[in-house]
Amino acid sequence: MNLLKNSLKRETMTSKDLMQLEEKYGAHNYHPLPVVLARGEGPFMWDVEGNKYFDFLSAYSAVNQGHCHPKIIKALTDQANTLTLTSRAFYNDALGPYEKFVTEYFGYDKILPMNTGAEGDETALKLCRKWAYEKKGVPENQAKIIVCENNFHGRTITVISMSTDPDARNGFGPYTPGFITIPYNDLNALSDALNDPNVAGFLVEPIQGEAGVFVPDDGYLKMAYQMCRDHNVLFIADEVQTGIARTGKLLACDHEGVRPDILILGKALSGGVYPVSAVLADDDIMLCIKPGEHGSTFGGNPVASEVAVAALEVIRDEKLAERAEELGKIFRDEMRKIDSPMIELVRGKGLLNAVVIKPKNGKEAWDVCLEMAKNGVLAKPTHGHIIRFAPPLVISEDELREAIRLIEKSIKSFD
Ligand code: PLP
Repeated sequence: MNLLKNSLKRETMTSKDLMQLEEKYGAHNYHPLPVVLARGEGPFMWDVEGNKYFDFLSAYSAVNQGHCHPKIIKALTDQANTLTLTSRAFYNDALGPYEKFVTEYFGYDKILPMNTGAEGDETALKLCRKWAYEKKGVPENQAKIIVCENNFHGRTITVISMSTDPDARNGFGPYTPGFITIPYNDLNALSDALNDPNVAGFLVEPIQGEAGVFVPDDGYLKMAYQMCRDHNVLFIADEVQTGIARTGKLLACDHEGVRPDILILGKALSGGVYPVSAVLADDDIMLCIKPGEHGSTFGGNPVASEVAVAALEVIRDEKLAERAEELGKIFRDEMRKIDSPMIELVRGKGLLNAVVIKPKNGKEAWDVCLEMAKNGVLAKPTHGHIIRFAPPLVISEDELREAIRLIEKSIKSFD
């Protein structure tokens, strides 16, 4: 522990030193894999000892464009050298052009810029409630929003009030009221819940990412959207993890031709270089929020605006949705060919995939991830027995196949 008192020179520290520092000085709200990363480029990361890894998490799908994409980093540094933050007390010369670009890109009238995914969700909930009172005629303070079991929308009090995960909820009450929870991928349950006239919105992840990459039945989203429409209820898609090309289309909702009434984006909206989130909607909904009713000091700042434009241009110019679609098929096909009793199931869409691990001789998904790290592939279990595989979308086919060989070697080492 001398290290903790004395030398704080980063360049002389080992992985062990750095993990010790986090353990001693950081809150214990995460349980990371024991790897300390120091550099990233494209689909790769390097630890402080110089070992190279394939990144198969992409910071939970924030780094879709690859680590330190030069075009996005240039946008970041150019703007950071010019003007970083004005607050929204004044106009700035980057926000308007970004707002025009992003609304045209996704096909909505307006954007409300925020920073994190959870803030995007909170914003969507407020917007939906306001619309319910102003436009739908729901009596004051009576609006309800339907959410799904096993959802993940972030960590704020209201967001965990919608959660069914005991780790996310327990010990953090009292909770925000106004939610109806139904099973995911269950249209009958949705139909029953929609009979309540005070329902304002249905908030759904098009694929449940954190829950373990649960892909709903074909037609679920389309039918759910139609049912919401029939009941004058807003269909709100949380595409923070599934959006921006991850699942093989620009948005996961695009697979079923669904255009959400409210769209929530985050993570890859900045290519993982800066916290940028957004809520998109048309005027009829968005203009329900008036000056002073919502905002954020950093939301829509010049750096965020420039970074988001660059990040979205990269998605389009490098055809990353198409790549995700093609490479995702290869990934699932190849993973399904691996002959191991530990692989129970492979599922996913585009490059958002998961493998359900069947424990063997006391070895679980966590052990598989440790072994993969040793072999040069970084991924993390979600919910115990499921490993999510989500590399940056810029990974080449050869690199993907090489990573699959390393994953196979790791899993087979338990045979
Ligand atoms: N919504 C979804 C679907 C997510 O997957 C996440 C994060 O994983 C969030 C919201 C929260 O995003 P953030 O961690 O940026 O608040």
